[in-house]
Formats: sequence, structure tokens, C-alpha cells
Amino acid sequence: MRVHLASSLQDALAFKATEPDAWPIAGGTDAMVHWPGAHEMHERTWLDLSHLNELRTVEFRDDFVELGALATYWDVIRDARFTALPLLPQAAATVGAVQIQTRGTWAGNIANASPAADGVPALMAYDAEVVLGSRDGGERVVALADFYHGYKQLEARPEELITAVRVPLRAHDHQDFIKVGSRAAQAITKVGLAYAHSSEGWRIVANSMAPTVCRCAAVETLVAAGTAVAGPDDLADAIAEDLTPIDDIRSTGAYRLRVFGRVLYHALQPICDSFS
Ligand SMILES: Cc1cc2nc3c(=O)[nH]c(=O)nc-3n(C[C@H](O)[C@H](O)[C@H](O)COP(=O)(O)OP(=O)(O)OC[C@H]3O[C@@H](n4cnc5c(N)ncnc54)[C@H](O)[C@@H]3O)c2cc1C
Repeated sequence: MRVHLASSLQDALAFKATEPDAWPIAGGTDAMVHWPGAHEMHERTWLDLSHLNELRTVEFRDDFVELGALATYWDVIRDARFTALPLLPQAAATVGAVQIQTRGTWAGNIANASPAADGVPALMAYDAEVVLGSRDGGERVVALADFYHGYKQLEARPEELITAVRVPLRAHDHQDFIKVGSRAAQAITKVGLAYAHSSEGWRIVANSMAPTVCRCAAVETLVAAGTAVAGPDDLADAIAEDLTPIDDIRSTGAYRLRVFGRVLYHALQPICDSFS
């Protein structure tokens, strides 16, 4: 196994330019899970980012917050300024336990591209952007909502690293993050919902409901149009248009569709006049 311990962001980008197949490691909480058994992991070249303190940042600017690529869940949980973006600490508090929250990064959650990721839906509900860096291409910014092309298919070139995540600072009158799992803590999401409403409109995001975490365009249109909704079943067509959950060891697709409809209805019923 080869491990390159990056000494600076510049060094990391130079390494990725010459060895685009190298696998970055941030907190290692996803990357290391298969370590003892998986033979191919031992043959990989690893690019260890963990010493790059220049990426371990949380900066509040005028109209956005920038989370450096090594910013962890714990960095957000313990920072009172995130009352301005409450879905982030709310989602962070549901990720694993404290050990994972203090090591796991938001960028790692994005790049790992699990459909069940909990950080991603909270970020997507706030229209977050992914900042990609490369040695020769400089900086490229991609909307998180456009970052996934399919299961584990990312809008990132092999020579690029995620260097930061930007989250717009907007006023939201409604927002929530809801995770359905087997337990209240230390559980992988079976059905997940994050939503936020601002002057930019509704952002309704589902996790564990499709090959990627995704916005629910048909549901957003229905809610924005003020279409009358008398109960969860009235949301079923829009949900089926947006989401294609699978059967797996944690749930069936049918269960996920049914529960997502109910979670969504009961979340929006008190705040949307069109929901009776
Ligand atoms: C016990 C346990 C419980 C967990 N519970 C949850 C949970 O409840 N919810 C949840 O969402 N997740 C959970 N996870 C998964 C994991 O903790 C998160 O996805 C975490 O955010 C990953 O971040 P990391 O820094 O550890 O990523 P790493 O493991 O270091 O990397 C993950 C992936 O991202 C890539 N990567 C990392 N940084 C970059 C970068 N800067 N640029 C490009 N690619 C990069 C790596 O190459 C790798 O493919 C859990 C994991 C464990 C072990």
C-alpha cells in the first residue's frame, strides 16, 4: 500500500494531478470501514489530507458560510453561529456517535455519495455548493443539487479534490430535518427528509429514497403551487415521480414510499395552508 501524507493543499493537488486514481482520506470514517478485509484497499494509493489544517476551517462571510474540506460535524455542532443554519447541527447530531462526529467531514459525506448520507440533504436544502480544486484547473464551483449523476457518480474530475463547501446565508421561515431509522441514534437512515423555505422557494430533499440524495422537483412544484392536499395519499404521485427507493437489508421500497409520504405530509401540514 502507498500513502502520500499531503503537507499542503498545493502538495495534495499536485499529487492528485499526477496520480488521479489516488483515494483521498479525510476523517477515514467511510474510507476505513472495509479496511481489515477488503484486499483492493491494500493495493490502492491513498492521499491523506488529514494534516492540512488550512482545510480545517469554518468561515462566516457576508452571505455564505464556507466549510473547509476537513470541517467536521463536531465543528458545526459546537459553533453557536450555526443557529442561522439549524439543519446543519441538527443533521450532524444524528451522524453516528461523538467519535464519528469529531472525525467525519462534510466533504467526506458528499464525496462518499451514499444515498443514505445525512449531511448531504441538510446542505442541499440550503442550496450548498461544492468547491472543487485542481492543480491545473484552479477552482470550480458546482451546485450540490447537480453534483450526483447517478449512484456513486460524481461531478468531479479524477484530478480534483473537494476543497470546501459553501452554504448561502438566507432567512428561512420553515425548515426541518427528519431521519427515520431503526433507533433514535447510531442508525443508518431508512427514510430521510430535509426541507427549507426561503424567498428562493421550497427545497425538499430526500435521502435513502433514490440512488442519490436528491431534491424532489415534483413535490416542490406541488407545494409551491398550493395544490390542495387532504392527506399523505395526495402526495403519492409527485413522490413516485421524484423518488425510486429500492428494497435492501434496511427496508423495502414500498415501506420507504409510504413512510416518506407520511413524514412529508405531517411536516408540512401545520405550515402549508393548502394541506388540510
Ligand atoms: C460507525 C459509523 C457510523 C456512521 N453513521 C453515519 C450516519 O449516521 N450518517 C451518515 O451520513 N454517515 C455516517 N457514517 C459515515 C461517515 O462517518 C460520514 O459519511 C462521514 O461524513 C465521512 O467523512 P470522512 O471525513 O470520514 O470521509 P473519509 O472516510 O475520509 O472519505 C469518504 C470518501 O470521500 C472521499 N473524500 C474525502 N475527502 C475528500 C475530498 N476533500 N475531496 C474528494 N474526495 C474526498 C474519500 O476518498 C472517500 O471516498 C458513519 C460511519 C461509521 C463508521
